[in-house]
Amino acid sequence: MSYLAKNYNRKKIAFKHGKGSYLFSTDGKKYLDMLSGIAVNSLGHAHPKLVKTIRDQSKKLWHVSNAFEIPEGEKLAKKLCQKTFADYVIFQNSGAEATEAAIKIARRYFYSIGKPNKTRILCIRNSFHGRTLATIFASGSKKMTQGFGYVGGFDHFDFGDHKSLKKKITKNTAAIMVETVLGEGGIKVIPDWCLKELRKLCNKKKILLILDEVQCGVGRSGNFFAFEKSKVKPDIVPIAKGIGGGFPIGAVLMNKKVAVGMIPGTHGSTFGGNPLAMAVGNTVMDIVSTKKFLNNVKKSSRYFFSKLNKLKEKYPSIIKEIRGRGLLIGIQLQTDQTKFIKKLMDNKLLTIRAAENVVRILPPLNVKIKEIDLALKIIDKVCSEIK
Ligand SMILES: *Cc1c(COP(=O)(O)O)cnc(C)c1O
Repeated sequence: MSYLAKNYNRKKIAFKHGKGSYLFSTDGKKYLDMLSGIAVNSLGHAHPKLVKTIRDQSKKLWHVSNAFEIPEGEKLAKKLCQKTFADYVIFQNSGAEATEAAIKIARRYFYSIGKPNKTRILCIRNSFHGRTLATIFASGSKKMTQGFGYVGGFDHFDFGDHKSLKKKITKNTAAIMVETVLGEGGIKVIPDWCLKELRKLCNKKKILLILDEVQCGVGRSGNFFAFEKSKVKPDIVPIAKGIGGGFPIGAVLMNKKVAVGMIPGTHGSTFGGNPLAMAVGNTVMDIVSTKKFLNNVKKSSRYFFSKLNKLKEKYPSIIKEIRGRGLLIGIQLQTDQTKFIKKLMDNKLLTIRAAENVVRILPPLNVKIKEIDLALKIIDKVCSEIK
């Protein structure tokens, strides 16, 4: 009997400890972890540098109020700005808080320049921006909003429907908010040329571009941000998942222009930017933002994709498409993926579903080639058994 509410359909497995790309269950089994807590454990489990950081910082200071300066947060904000388009950062504790703050920043910017009517945010239908009341309505998903009343202020267009996107921009639109790579929505990459057109469109209409990189950011794509390859500069970027390597951290990055609205009293978070979280964030950042680390993500990605595409050719009746970028990978199956994921798990490979029959593969960013080989072997075996 569980006293936890039933809002999750949990697998009957629990884990005792983890090391690198592996998880060890309470019943003594070893699993290859290719979901990384949904793109969270970017450096795998129990990374020695993260363990040391937490141990050292926990002896010094865990939490102080944001009423005071927090040097660890100053340091992390500086690193994030120096590596990216951003001029300023606000720290949060989760992805939904970061996307919600992004929406607030966009609205508050227009309010502060005397255009308070510009509040509406234009999003992709069936995207994912988190589970707060506002962010579920941003998703434009019936399933997520059913039974939760109504939160206004969001308009939607279908992925790839550029005509509808242009039509939905009105005088009240403040921003377009999209995931650079749709994660939950089925690992759908917005092509670079589209991002460029989006930026142009936002400039022409004098509205803001928010790129939600909560799942695809922080090295996951092979670049620090997935939009970097397109050379596009967004105005606001929420991040979370990977930046804490397993410790809850969210952040919203913004340029100078939009930051003008965020004066004292406009936003806050009790826990956001606490010294313990910031210490961890600094360590993750120092590792994942280096050229060498990111080049290695690209290398692992090329290897994984080329081998998965071979499996697609071998099993065309099972695998429809290999999607994604970097180590954010989707195997789209011809039919429902539930049984496939279960079989992978029975063979000690952990993955997770996404929309459109996709099996999502999100290994730690420092995954080893021999671990990729093991995953491929298991996927091959499951394909041959299902066939
Ligand atoms: C996971 C996710 C969120 C929400 O993050 P939480 O930490 O679960 O609140 C928001 N946007 C995207 C793109 C995500 O993948």
